[in-house]
Amino acid sequence: MMRARGLPVHVVGAGLAGLAAALTLSRAGRAVVLHEASPGAGGRARALPDGGDNGTHALIGANPAALALLDEIGARTDWIEPEPEALPVYDLVAARLHHVALAPRLWRRPDRRPPGLGAAAFLALLRAALPGRHVTVAQAFDRHPELLRGFVEPLTLAALNTPVEEAGLRRLGAVLRRLWRPEACRLYVARRGLGPDLVEPALALLRRRGVEIRPGHRLRGLEREGHRLTHLRFGAARMPIAPEQRVVLAVPPWEAVRLLPGLRVPERHAPILNLHFQHASGAGPRFLGLLGGLSQWVLVRPGGVAVTVSAATAALLRDAEAKAPAIWWELREAALAAGLPGPWPEAPPPWRIVKEHRATPLHEPDQPPPPPPHPAENLMLAGDWMEPVLPATIEAAVRSGQRAGRWALAA
Ligand SMILES: Cc1cc2nc3c(=O)[nH]c(=O)nc-3n(C[C@H](O)[C@H](O)[C@H](O)COP(=O)(O)OP(=O)(O)OC[C@H]3O[C@@H](n4cnc5c(N)ncnc54)[C@H](O)[C@@H]3O)c2cc1C
Repeated sequence: MMRARGLPVHVVGAGLAGLAAALTLSRAGRAVVLHEASPGAGGRARALPDGGDNGTHALIGANPAALALLDEIGARTDWIEPEPEALPVYDLVAARLHHVALAPRLWRRPDRRPPGLGAAAFLALLRAALPGRHVTVAQAFDRHPELLRGFVEPLTLAALNTPVEEAGLRRLGAVLRRLWRPEACRLYVARRGLGPDLVEPALALLRRRGVEIRPGHRLRGLEREGHRLTHLRFGAARMPIAPEQRVVLAVPPWEAVRLLPGLRVPERHAPILNLHFQHASGAGPRFLGLLGGLSQWVLVRPGGVAVTVSAATAALLRDAEAKAPAIWWELREAALAAGLPGPWPEAPPPWRIVKEHRATPLHEPDQPPPPPPHPAENLMLAGDWMEPVLPATIEAAVRSGQRAGRWALAA
């Protein structure tokens, strides 16, 4: 174990932002205490007690900060490309399978092109990538319904977790601009899961670097004097913070505003619904897109099939149990059409439902900017919601955590 130096920096929250902050600090040899309210780390990207993921998490080549974090913790090769050639997408309405290359330079091949991508639609896509238009995604593509349905809507749901009628084009534009870079469109998923391929190696490295990790340690309150944070309150314990000591608050927005009343935080959030079906095909990982159904993405791993519904409606969240058989039949039809190995019986295998009611902020056109990052001189906010340009994703969380870590180092 490394011996870290200096007064410890307190990092509150062990989601991706807090982990990234702690990694940045500990890499430079600074002492860190990482406080986490729940028994485990990972936050909204975590393993459940039975080892499964709370929900499918994918990264793309255009996520350099997240991929660099995987490199640092030694897990980069555990994130693999399930569909290196092109993403299979099954249209349930047309009962047709097609393949879409995620990289625009591969769209020269007609059999790898998003549906509806003529010259005019391509120009609309280029225009959408320019910064600054204050409209919804649906408005920007209203003259290109086929491209909207077959490509822009799935991309918006995956990246912004917001329905196209409500999603701000500016956040999608930030994603589109990054897709043009070489390697940007490679899609990665954890080979085994978020526990073994992300959270556990991150915690193991932090421990080796001497970071003190305190699970089940919820920050209950902050005390300030003037512009300075003076104490952290954990239950009955009141921890003094020296004037030169730094604190990174990497908690979700609803918790940040509880601790700092009056803070400007996103108020509207969108859910993600995940269904995990038992499935023992031994195949995978494989990844499938679905169009025109209840669900959008299917991840097949040797131990099970995970289905994602981003920005799920209130009705679907409420009736998820009753709808699970229909979701199985959708994915079964797609899996058979795509020739995925494994038994795909008509009777749905046992399933489990995970509802993340506040998976991400809703990215509307008039979403207010994040608040100033320093509510006190020696305190910095971090988290996916603190990213002004990118949508709330792992990349946004890691970037903001690294930024907070660098600030604490500079002090
Ligand atoms: C089902 C699902 C699927 C997703 N899919 C993708 C995807 O495919 N790709 C992608 O890039 N992103 C995806 N996301 C988004 C991604 O998970 C989040 O953007 C990211 O994990 C947010 O990290 P964070 O550290 O900012 O916040 P969080 O993960 O919310 O971490 C905050 C941490 O702070 C802790 N905490 C809260 N209050 C306190 C307190 N008072 N004291 C101490 N600790 C506290 C929490 O327990 C938590 O561990 C998905 C999210 C969900 C829910």
